[in-house]
Amino acid sequence: MVICSQCPDEDDSSEEDTTEVYSPLTLEKLARQRLLREEALAISALKDLPHLLFPAMFEEAFINGHTKVLTAMIPVWPYPYLYVGMMIKNRNLETLKAMLEGLDILIAQKVRSSRCKLRQINWKNKYHNVIGIWAGSHELLTRFMTQKQPVQNSPGCGVKKELKVTTQLEIMEGRLDESDRYLFQWAQQRKDSIHLCNTNLEIQGLTKATVIEIFKFLHADCVQDLMLCHLSIEDFDFLNPYLRQMNNLLNLTLCHITDTRSMDDSEMSLLPTFHCLQTLSVNDVPYVYGNLKGFLRCLKNPLESLIITECDLSQSDLDCLPYCLNIFELRYLTLASINLCDLLLEPLGFFLERVGHTLENLELESCGIQDSQLNTLLPALSQCSQLRVVSFNDNEFSLLFLKELLHHTAQLSQLEREVCPAPLECYDRGIVLSHRLENLCPELLDILTAKRMPMEVTFETIECSNCGGFYTYDLETESCHFHI
Ligand SMILES: [Zn+2]
Ligand SMILES: [Zn+2]
Repeated sequence: MVICSQCPDEDDSSEEDTTEVYSPLTLEKLARQRLLREEALAISALKDLPHLLFPAMFEEAFINGHTKVLTAMIPVWPYPYLYVGMMIKNRNLETLKAMLEGLDILIAQKVRSSRCKLRQINWKNKYHNVIGIWAGSHELLTRFMTQKQPVQNSPGCGVKKELKVTTQLEIMEGRLDESDRYLFQWAQQRKDSIHLCNTNLEIQGLTKATVIEIFKFLHADCVQDLMLCHLSIEDFDFLNPYLRQMNNLLNLTLCHITDTRSMDDSEMSLLPTFHCLQTLSVNDVPYVYGNLKGFLRCLKNPLESLIITECDLSQSDLDCLPYCLNIFELRYLTLASINLCDLLLEPLGFFLERVGHTLENLELESCGIQDSQLNTLLPALSQCSQLRVVSFNDNEFSLLFLKELLHHTAQLSQLEREVCPAPLECYDRGIVLSHRLENLCPELLDILTAKRMPMEVTFETIECSNCGGFYTYDLETESCHFHI
């Protein structure tokens, strides 16, 4: 429990920024808006509309709900892709229906407009932060927006249909939302010409009937990202036959999985084997405690990212980590909000030695790690020569130890970003002393600058229990800032 000295008063906490940025509408935008005011005119103008103006026109029509124009634009869409960004305003059943009506016209046409190049519509994918309408390829977008993995690693789907609609299905509390249900039924009725490609599947709470119904039509091979949330361990008996069909699964997230079994059953394995999984993310899954090795048996290929948060780990879990298969080519390792303060971290050091040739991101955050514990990891840490990001935020390090830590990270020539906790000396009986942070950080930074040119270094205090605010000191401004 920590309190900062700056807790804002209730009344002046929401000081709103009322300055509006004046941005004159461009001539092109004005022309578009004017045209869209008369839908019939806009529709008849489509045949002369230059290709380059299609995405902006579509976006304007989408945001302002000109559904007739949306419908008319689909059969003459001059690009292979039409990507409706997750962040776009007015994504609802009406705009979806308008687009699907356009697709119906396209399917029914015996002779297509020579202009139409449309092959794929992406209706929803919340992992891509696209704001408006995108006409580039999905592959390009993946590379451009997330730089997650090279295109050749995406297995894609083998289903060949003339048109593909990709989406992300979310089964929330056992049900699909209105738009997803509509899209699903629409595609089911046109399954000869449309492939509904579901690359992302999110199941939050299980209703068996819905899952059975969906998997009758859904191609399990297409699922690349799967999130399973608010389930119980017992639900996996039912789900595993479906998971086994997901031969191209790349990313799996398990979140809030309750465990009510007796200890005797703990040997049972939770997941089937996955042959190309790259990222495994586990948040609040009590099953993992004492069972990490068994849990990781689902891996049949070297994993790239392992993220474990808000789970308890036992000493035996840490002890077995250097002996688990298929985690020695990790590029990202995150252990966060796990209480490690009573555990011996030497095995984690052995593990770091094994992954040192590939590891790029190491985050050990909010684990209650103390000086002496991390000290045992320092020799191994120095060998992780590929590290680009390290974060040890929200652990309990003294000034003396932080100096020692930085002497080690100073050797890591690839480091681009380092986040360290503010030294314990910056707190006095639960009160944050920001002036101490301001005074102590320059000498810490000197350790790094003496060895190399550090790029991004931040020291952060614990969040105030009262207002959630915290202080940072960073290399860029060389000063202390309060964040809330
Ligand atoms: Zn505060
Ligand atoms: Zn597919």
